[in-house]
Amino acid sequence: MKNVLIIGSGISGMSCAVNCAEKGMHVILASPFPSERAQSVMAAGGINAVLEDNEEDDTVESHIKDTLKGGAYLAGEESVRGLCEGAGKIIKYLEDIGTVFSLDDKGRPAHRAFGGQSHKRTYYCGASTGKQIVTALNMEVRRFETAGLIERRLGMCFHSGLIKDGICYGAILYGESTNKLEAVYADAVVMATGGQNVLFGKTTGSTQCDGYAAGKLFEQGAVLKNLEFIQYHPTTMETAQKRMLISEAVRGEGGRLFYLDENNERVYFMENKYGPEGNLQTRDVVSREIYETGKDVYLDISFLDRKTIFARLPEVYELCLKYRNIDITREPIPVAPSVHFFMGGLAVKNDHETSIRNLYAVGECASIYHGANRLGGNSLLAAVYGGGVAADAITRREDGEKILFEDVLKKEQEKLTQAADTESTFAYAHIRDDVAKIMQENLGIVRDEKSLIDGMEQIDFYIKSAGQIKYDNSVLQYFNYSLPGILILARAVLTCARFRKESRGSHNRKEFTEIEAGFSYPTLISYDNGNYSVRLDKEGEYES
Ligand SMILES: Cc1cc2nc3c(=O)[nH]c(=O)nc-3n(C[C@H](O)[C@H](O)[C@H](O)COP(=O)(O)OP(=O)(O)OC[C@H]3O[C@@H](n4cnc5c(N)ncnc54)[C@H](O)[C@@H]3O)c2cc1C
Repeated sequence: MKNVLIIGSGISGMSCAVNCAEKGMHVILASPFPSERAQSVMAAGGINAVLEDNEEDDTVESHIKDTLKGGAYLAGEESVRGLCEGAGKIIKYLEDIGTVFSLDDKGRPAHRAFGGQSHKRTYYCGASTGKQIVTALNMEVRRFETAGLIERRLGMCFHSGLIKDGICYGAILYGESTNKLEAVYADAVVMATGGQNVLFGKTTGSTQCDGYAAGKLFEQGAVLKNLEFIQYHPTTMETAQKRMLISEAVRGEGGRLFYLDENNERVYFMENKYGPEGNLQTRDVVSREIYETGKDVYLDISFLDRKTIFARLPEVYELCLKYRNIDITREPIPVAPSVHFFMGGLAVKNDHETSIRNLYAVGECASIYHGANRLGGNSLLAAVYGGGVAADAITRREDGEKILFEDVLKKEQEKLTQAADTESTFAYAHIRDDVAKIMQENLGIVRDEKSLIDGMEQIDFYIKSAGQIKYDNSVLQYFNYSLPGILILARAVLTCARFRKESRGSHNRKEFTEIEAGFSYPTLISYDNGNYSVRLDKEGEYES
């Protein structure tokens, strides 16, 4: 029986776990928190698919076309085709395992418009699509737990890969309650650790997703891809804790963006420039346009009747009232773009294997399907779909040899114990906050050479000082050991952004405002002993 270690238990991790268990493999599903607390539960807007009997005359070909165009033609056509062709079956599967989709007046699955879509194809479960899918997959995981095929390991964080000569044999995990490291050997390791929010501080997403795993694996030889493509969601609202997402569903239901001119008159700048569909341009376009107004921007949905708002956008109504005392049935919402999603991450081939043999990546930590900009509703789809693709690939793989890494484990445990015994001299929280500030300031919606170099120099300062930074005993060990991985990732993101001398999708350069044909390929970056080397994937080495 094959043993699979899956790290991260959001939608992509659970989808992979269930698919592996269905194929008779034994799975260890490790994460610091239960699935109910993964970022996946925050997804509200919906999941994209073209259902066979849709009334919109929508086709899978249109979904493929929109996804490729939305991603500024940087995603691989073959992988996107697989994703879109698989979408209808995924909705059916999710329904079969207990996901309760909203229904329209005729009792059919209700769907709405999202940005960059030629047809309405985003299916939703009231305001809690992510939560519904997590709940349904969780029940499936429980079924296989009872059958002894899935073993949950909670309170476990990724520490490092057990990698030798480009092959992965398992991973070292850190137990938060034991304060100890543990080597877990497996025929395949699947990373499902989500995006890189912590790198940017206040975002719409979860602070569980810090990008450390990608940074550490990069240091251990894994190739990363498209790191410069960071999705700024155009409509988020400032709150004390985080940037609160104002779902694209508001614009899907007709919400209008505007600013006030000097006469206090509303200017519907998106409609003025792009026509009636202006508000539903892709996220990269809307964010850039908001940035270029240089003004405070508002989103208005108050012209819809209260009943429709309560029926279709209940969570937006509640969020605005609770966090900002704004009644969206009467007044507009102040919005601004904020970091929301990462198109970049671990480079994977179409079967989700990374550049390291037997190491796979699924969900938001993998860079595949979305090119230079993701369409709303395609990420939940990719998380469910990718989990299945990786499981298929793992089943097909012949069993390889096993190697033990007990000496490595012992050394890493000694390092951790020694570090914990040293005096605390540096506030880790301060460095993390500073990294977030550097990234926000130097890697905004529009970047330029000077700001990117400035950002790189500031991150290099922390990387060079790493030896002098002592462990901070007032925080969890995880925060201490994960910092160097986060710094290396930050440096890699800035390096990729500097390398791409054009504006495409979510990557906008002040000095290079057009798409350049020479850059019509994904960016790949690898690390070797302090050296970062960037290149374009001209051969379609990864996603094709
Ligand atoms: C507010 C919001 C709304 C969204 N709405 C939509 C939507 O409507 N439609 C859509 O398609 N997409 C949406 N998205 C995006 C989508 O929700 C995510 O991209 C997707 O759910 C990611 O799933 P995942 O399984 O890859 O990661 P996550 O759900 O983020 O799970 C990551 C898992 O990895 C674990 N983990 C992290 N680091 C470590 C570590 N070092 N060691 C061990 N475990 C670790 C976490 O604890 C967690 O279990 C939204 C995102 C946000 C933030």
